[in-house]
Amino acid sequence: MQSAPLLLSGEAAWTQTLTFTVLFSLLILIVVVVLAGWRERSHHRPFFEARWWPNALWTRRLDVLLFSADPEQQILGRRFAIGVANCLAGLLALNYGTWQGVIDPHRCVLLTQAAMAVIVILYAVFRTGLNQRLADPSMGGVATALSVVFLAWGYLIGGPGRPVALLLLFVILMFSIFTSTTRDLWRASALAAVAFGWVMWQVADEQRHILHGPEMQLVYFLMLMLMLVSVSLLVGQLARLRETARSRRVELAKALQRIQELATQDELTGLPNRRHMLERLSQAQTRQRRHGGVTSVALVDVDHFKTINDRHGHGVGDEVLRALSGVMQKGLRESDTLARWGGEEFLMLFPDTTPQDAMAVLQRIQQQLTQAATFPAGLRVTFSAGVAALASDDSLEHSITLADTALYAAKAAGRNRVCVASLPAQQD
Ligand code: GH3
Ligand code: MG
Ligand code: MG
Repeated sequence: MQSAPLLLSGEAAWTQTLTFTVLFSLLILIVVVVLAGWRERSHHRPFFEARWWPNALWTRRLDVLLFSADPEQQILGRRFAIGVANCLAGLLALNYGTWQGVIDPHRCVLLTQAAMAVIVILYAVFRTGLNQRLADPSMGGVATALSVVFLAWGYLIGGPGRPVALLLLFVILMFSIFTSTTRDLWRASALAAVAFGWVMWQVADEQRHILHGPEMQLVYFLMLMLMLVSVSLLVGQLARLRETARSRRVELAKALQRIQELATQDELTGLPNRRHMLERLSQAQTRQRRHGGVTSVALVDVDHFKTINDRHGHGVGDEVLRALSGVMQKGLRESDTLARWGGEEFLMLFPDTTPQDAMAVLQRIQQQLTQAATFPAGLRVTFSAGVAALASDDSLEHSITLADTALYAAKAAGRNRVCVASLPAQQD
């Protein structure tokens, strides 16, 4: 038995038409905004190349006008707009039912006004940036819960269009799977079970005289439960996927860091390696070309290292290299760079330092080596060094060759000393 159509008076019909038009225009506007934003982000632009469609400039203007200049807020804004579009679709369906005389106009007006008021309030919170102060700036949990309540309300008064509310609930839950937290979604599902359970009970009671009325409500309720259980299973699965993706990201970041270390660091001493040092040298040379000043480089070679290896073994030799690099690093300034150049050779870069000053630094380090019991097995280790100025107008290799020649001179002059390129060997 179907109740008689609820006919609208002339004025009410006019109001209804106006409401319908406003809702419809808003929906179109939101669809345009959302699709225009999506087009900007999308690499495939299959069917939005038309001239009349908002271009990138217009999309940016719309975003700033409707949401915010902040890109984070824009993303949240567009998500909010999709939710509003859904809500407007539901309201349109409801108002259409009223227009057709199958839904009580008073109940429809009340729901429409309440829903529009909530949308305006949420939009105001969002547009003023108040949402940024909330624990969840996307307000996803609140919005989903409110949508569930309004859909249940719509179901209660929706007449023959009631299943539309269930469809929209499905859309909202599916959307929330990707935008809400697992906890928010479980809360929304529980709320949906309670709210829809209650309204379906009411409708069943209202329809107890209609053939199969209450049974149909029971069927709808069972369908709803099936949907909520499926959503919960999906959410659990997605949470596991997210966790896997997160731990993979962490592992990948660690691996990347390790690769970077291996590519730039010497494993034995932890110092920058030859490749990394060449980059530093090149940067220093560029800086010197631009800003002037004097930069020095020094090549350091351990004296009689082969003997240390032969007498005490390779392991002790390695220990010596590690200890020596520690002492040298301590003797340098923050702005200087010490690198392992290869084998038992080290290269030093001294920005804003003359070769004479660099030589003084190296001789001070040599002094420290004689004092401290730095090395294993009570070894006394010395080094020789050659210093040269970094040439602005010549190749890096040329400066390093000059330092190497000076080092050779230091070795030839008896070791444990520092020579500056094209200066006579300094006696210690
Ligand atoms: P000089 O005073 O003329 O420099 O004599 P030297 O014995 O140091 O001669 P040379 O520079 O030719 O010897 C370098 C030695 O360093 C040879 C090589 O076996 C050793 N060596 C190179 N790299 C390493 C390393 O990583 N660990 C150890 N323990 N030894 C290394
Ligand atoms: Mg050597
Ligand atoms: Mg040597």
